[in-house]
Amino acid sequence: MELWQTLLQESITQPAQLQPVFGITPEPLSKVTKSYPMRINPYYLSLIKQQGDPIWRQAVPDILELNDTVCMEDPLNEENLSPVPNLVHKYPDRALFLVHNQCAVYCRFCTRKRKVGTKEMHVSIKTIDAGLDYLRKTDSIRDVLVSGGDPLLLEDNKLDYILSSLRAIQHIAIIRIGSRVPCTLPMRVTEKLASIIKRYHPVYINTHFNHPTEITPEASIACNRLADAGIPLGSQTVLLKGVNDDPEIIKQLMYKLLQIRVKPYYLFQTDMTKGTNHFRTPIDKGLEIMQSLIGHISGMAVPTFAVDAPGGGGKIPLLPKYVQHIGKQLIFQNYCGVTCTYENPDA
Ligand SMILES: *Cc1c(COP(=O)(O)O)cnc(C)c1O
Ligand code: SF4
Repeated sequence: MELWQTLLQESITQPAQLQPVFGITPEPLSKVTKSYPMRINPYYLSLIKQQGDPIWRQAVPDILELNDTVCMEDPLNEENLSPVPNLVHKYPDRALFLVHNQCAVYCRFCTRKRKVGTKEMHVSIKTIDAGLDYLRKTDSIRDVLVSGGDPLLLEDNKLDYILSSLRAIQHIAIIRIGSRVPCTLPMRVTEKLASIIKRYHPVYINTHFNHPTEITPEASIACNRLADAGIPLGSQTVLLKGVNDDPEIIKQLMYKLLQIRVKPYYLFQTDMTKGTNHFRTPIDKGLEIMQSLIGHISGMAVPTFAVDAPGGGGKIPLLPKYVQHIGKQLIFQNYCGVTCTYENPDA
């Protein structure tokens, strides 16, 4: 067995296993894991410094998950937008292909909390082949996002099968892999894995970091290894109350991502997923954070702040209000709040 597989096997899955080190009362939390699974592998567990810190909040169940009366099981309407199981076709030119039901850590705020890591999510060679068939016959699709769960937790040969099958489809130009493994289990990024992925270029990887303390030497090795294989890396971050809802934390995170060769891609407003209401921040908080980034730090480090519209409307970018008026002149504010004008030509 490889190191990453051993680590995965040694994951803790019950709140009681936290008791010896952190002295918590596991009883109420065991109720949560009956609905929403827990998995914290030893690597990610080692990043927790104390109870309630930003890593803890992302990974350890909270009783509030069961008290959410506001949010929805499937806020993005993914099930109804799936022509075949585990393939979401929402935008004409791209599709989201879910090829695994497990992750290296079950994030408490997961947008697919209704099914990731549970019996509700059936992924098999049959569903994968049905997805591939749909992609073969739908020639409007140019870009496939391979996700899950975490596709990089598949064994090398299964991932190779999926990537080679996708690459054999003429109309698919771009393959993207969505994986949190560079953050939550960087040991999974072996030389062998990088060498498999690079056979199917152009392949992009979008990973997912939420806090600067996740950018460790191990994460850096994993990302550099992928970048050295010619894989452009992006990262999404979810804005989470009590984890990263602070301009300084996000600023540090974005800078550190660039340093490990990862380009910040999206900063997401938390989806309205049942069991995650306690993580949601006011829209103004995200806008305040964006205002603190734009113009103040390297443009390369600035993600797009977006909300994924409930019901399946897609991702909508949100910007601080810079434009004051558009007429004969464009009147707008710069990043320091100074009013500027630009002469608007006639059409
Ligand atoms: C996010 C998403 C995409 C990709 O959107 P981009 O803005 O191109 O990154 C595609 N399909 C679904 C269903 C998605 O949720
Ligand atoms: S890694 Fe992604 S898919 Fe898996 S639990 Fe976390 S947010 Fe959900």
